[in-house]
Amino acid sequence: MLDDRYMPKYRFKSVCDITTDDIRAMGVDGLLLDIDNTLIYDETLRPLPGVKEWLEYISSAGIKTAIVSNAIPLRVIPVAKKLKIKYYIYSAKKPRPDGLFKAAEKLGLPIERLAMVGDQLKTDMLAANTAGAVAVFTDRARDEKIFRFYFKKARDGEKELLQEFERRKTEK
Ligand SMILES: [Mg+2]
Repeated sequence: MLDDRYMPKYRFKSVCDITTDDIRAMGVDGLLLDIDNTLIYDETLRPLPGVKEWLEYISSAGIKTAIVSNAIPLRVIPVAKKLKIKYYIYSAKKPRPDGLFKAAEKLGLPIERLAMVGDQLKTDMLAANTAGAVAVFTDRARDEKIFRFYFKKARDGEKELLQEFERRKTEK
């Protein structure tokens, strides 16, 4: 089933490929960031290659950032500290939009001036579209090591939507 609510507006291979020009072109001043498989390899505290430098690069251009994660505080807080991201929302319950609104409030920006960046259509992108933030999809860093069966099903469900996204892009 193709549902536009899951559809990203932009797609990148990695967060590190998102330039400050891209961010300005999206019409936003800040990024809400998923952590697992977007910034950090799942089940680890290891950032994807280049993530720390990328965060410094966008911050120095005045782009604000906050983490919005469904993970528990025990995971989110150490990641936020490690990456020096001041604002974070844990147990966000994406695809519910509440966590995105809370993060927007912390950043002092209206939700439409923010992009939600994440690697899952049915949580991150649905939350972005529901909240009214710009939906930015990044390809996952690797196959999930935990909840393999759950994630395999979720990833299979994403394939058709991503094919549709690519088809529309080439039509433009
Ligand atoms: Mg994720």
